[in-house]
Amino acid sequence: MSFVFSDEQRLIQQTVREIARNELVPRSAETDRYGTFPLDSVESLATAGILGMTVPQEYGGPAADDLSFVLAIEEIARACASTALITVTHEAVCRALLVAGNDIQKEIYLPPLTRGEKLGAFAVHEVDSGADACAITTQAVTDGDDYIVNGTKMFITNAGEAEIFLVLVRTDDSNDYQDISLLIIEKDTPGFSLGAKYGKMGLNGISSHELIFKDCRVTKENLLGSEGSGIQTVVKSLISLGFLGAAAISLGLANEALERSIIHARDRVIRGKPIGAHQGIHFLVAEMGVSVDAIRSLLYWTVLKKENPDSNEIIDALKVKLFASELAIEATDKALQVHGGHGYSDGYQRKCLIRVSG
Ligand SMILES: Cc1cc2nc3c(=O)[nH]c(=O)nc-3n(C[C@H](O)[C@H](O)[C@H](O)COP(=O)(O)OP(=O)(O)OC[C@H]3O[C@@H](n4cnc5c(N)ncnc54)[C@H](O)[C@@H]3O)c2cc1C
Repeated sequence: MSFVFSDEQRLIQQTVREIARNELVPRSAETDRYGTFPLDSVESLATAGILGMTVPQEYGGPAADDLSFVLAIEEIARACASTALITVTHEAVCRALLVAGNDIQKEIYLPPLTRGEKLGAFAVHEVDSGADACAITTQAVTDGDDYIVNGTKMFITNAGEAEIFLVLVRTDDSNDYQDISLLIIEKDTPGFSLGAKYGKMGLNGISSHELIFKDCRVTKENLLGSEGSGIQTVVKSLISLGFLGAAAISLGLANEALERSIIHARDRVIRGKPIGAHQGIHFLVAEMGVSVDAIRSLLYWTVLKKENPDSNEIIDALKVKLFASELAIEATDKALQVHGGHGYSDGYQRKCLIRVSG
């Protein structure tokens, strides 16, 4: 395993870095403050081939590897965490279609997703299922060649803008995880509507809504994979790739917190002395630097390790998501301390990354 990037990985990193700095940063404050979906930013990424970037060329994607994806998300998160989560969710939808879709489904859904003409959303969570996806109760009951879907999903990222939803449903009455399936449900399907939009403490641009299915008729042709394979597909896409993306968001936030703290420690002068000259600030910045390196090391290593047939990529993805999010919270908390009251005030709000890292 080597942390030396290929020319292609470097090019992707550099390209996304430039888009992030030039196009995403200027829009991110407005996205955060007003909770507007960052459509222009998403379009910029789509134009550069970053939406659906790991999809093979036969379905219109650039076939970038998972490390390139992680590098891209890190750069996007530094500029706008909402845009990063939107991109990660979209990629997880593409991955689910790739790993579980039949040829027709891949041909229908992947090209518009990779061109960014349509956005994807992944609907797992329900009010009574919580972190346990196997506890879902949304039902899909067979009616001839269709399913009739009834139930409600909550906290669904991209919901307000997405056109293609992967929805986790129960295709049998038992409580078994083997009775859980994934359906592809398009936005305008009768019986499917958006419910409340959720206000949040951060990530305000991700357009998260409740989804309501009321006698929603979905053709069985839209079953993704086989009946009962829903959890398996969630694991191979939302966890295997999506959680790496989530860890990359944490890395981007921690790194941004570090860089801004270094600048502030240099620029904030009291009694003719930059605050960075004090050892207490050194400690904070040094600890943040170690955290960033630690997240980066575990994340890249986890991605590269996926190639190893003996690795447990699911456990590894869960571990790195946990590790990265906890260290990112610590790093952004330290950044808040370095920035003092300025970090808490409105004018410096974007500098206070703690709300999104949490
Ligand atoms: C910003 C954001 C975006 C999201 N986007 C999506 C999306 O696109 N699609 C989607 O489907 N969902 C999405 N979600 C929902 C997310 O998946 C859930 O919030 C998550 O699964 C946790 O569920 P919960 O919030 O109900 O917490 P709970 O399950 O209620 O957990 C609360 C606490 O209890 C603990 N806990 C729960 N059960 C146990 C147990 N058995 N033993 C010990 N401790 C336990 C948990 O660890 C946690 O600390 C999003 C959430 C957020 C905040």
